[in-house]
Amino acid sequence: MDQKAIMIAFDAFSFGLGATIASFLNVVIWRVPRGESIVSPPSHCPRCSSPIRWWQNVPIISWILLRGRCANCKEPISMRYPLVETLGGVLFLAAFWHYGWLAPLAWIWISLMIVGSFIDLDHQLLPDFVTVGGMILGVATSVAFWAVGEFTPWHFHNLTPNFFFVPPLQSLGGLALGFSLLWCVRFFGTLAFKREAMGMGDVFLMGAVGALFGPVAVIATLILSAVLGSIVGIVLILLAKVRLGGFAAIPYGPFICAGCLVWMFWGPGLVQWHLQLLLGK
Ligand SMILES: [Zn+2]
Repeated sequence: MDQKAIMIAFDAFSFGLGATIASFLNVVIWRVPRGESIVSPPSHCPRCSSPIRWWQNVPIISWILLRGRCANCKEPISMRYPLVETLGGVLFLAAFWHYGWLAPLAWIWISLMIVGSFIDLDHQLLPDFVTVGGMILGVATSVAFWAVGEFTPWHFHNLTPNFFFVPPLQSLGGLALGFSLLWCVRFFGTLAFKREAMGMGDVFLMGAVGALFGPVAVIATLILSAVLGSIVGIVLILLAKVRLGGFAAIPYGPFICAGCLVWMFWGPGLVQWHLQLLLGK
């Protein structure tokens, strides 16, 4: 096999793995907030209870072949399932292109963000295993890479600074900054609106972003998520889906994740562009 064929095989593997894991994440998103086991019972149609066979459970493809309906009773299956699977495939592939052999660590965080975002959309809550899990992943990878000599406590050594792995002091500093910044937003927001402006889950999630990507990523993610949230909020108000002042009904977690993804793939470029704007060169 030549080089090109090998790369295509790795690309296909990344996409397929992402779609397959996202298929499992769909189960996690549905069952975990309901306190159900994620392993048993096996997947079944919620209406007719007929088990879903392996060939009916191939990510994306099965949904299309079954035309979005249960094979037995024709109950419609939500389009969200293939969409989440496609999202997983695309993000895993993008992470492989961007992070190369370090992509598996990015895949873990991407999986946690997918679960957190959709559970937050459905239930307005962010599970601890997503937020605290992200913090542990960030600090642990940082310390591990430091231990094998990839960086000194503050600076990179051998790794190219791709804005994923930050040295331990940046990881801990990012965690502290992300947590305290959103804690303040939550505290003063709650004072201003006289009701809970933001959940503690969002505070923990931003702590995780800081632990993984450092303090600069926290600032960038905060700005990006606020911009994205405002755009979506305005569109929803224009569509009369939510009333003005009904912002609490829009969960903030998915916007933190979207901002974080922008950072993961375009972070260095964004910093450069911003500095050019500031310094005028
Ligand atoms: Zn059925």
